[in-house]
Amino acid sequence: MDVRVGIGYDVHAFAENRRLVLGGVGIDHPLGLLGHSDADVLLHAIIDALLGAASLGDIGELFPDSDPSLRDASSLDLLKQVHDLLSGHGVTILNIDSVVICEKPKISPHLGAMKAAISRALGDLAPARIGIKGKTTEGLGFAGRREGIVAQAVALVRLD
Ligand code: MG
Repeated sequence: MDVRVGIGYDVHAFAENRRLVLGGVGIDHPLGLLGHSDADVLLHAIIDALLGAASLGDIGELFPDSDPSLRDASSLDLLKQVHDLLSGHGVTILNIDSVVICEKPKISPHLGAMKAAISRALGDLAPARIGIKGKTTEGLGFAGRREGIVAQAVALVRLD
């Protein structure tokens, strides 16, 4: 069995007058994240982990921020496209694990909705195969200063 692992990492800065979208879920918060798309930092890390595991490039190659059609794009739609790309290459997702690092908002109340959204985008991948954890940095660094959100993800896939 040909099993591959991939890693993804992303950072977006907080900004005013932006809707906060994390893991495909709109979250009520005074600040959103700055970005060309909806700036869903968690989905961007997951997309890069999946593309890395499948050796199919990275998010910047597939969805360049110079592409005007991707302005305010839904990252859930991008994740769906990545799922289709992987399926077309005979890649099956075994599991994903991820960490969202920020002081606020609290991630845990949104875990169920995030896993459901990601599951749907990935062809009903079982939510038990999708890990999401919220962490703070105890006030240290830019995440601790509430300047932005960091996300990290790993993905395990099988090549058929
Ligand atoms: Mg990003």
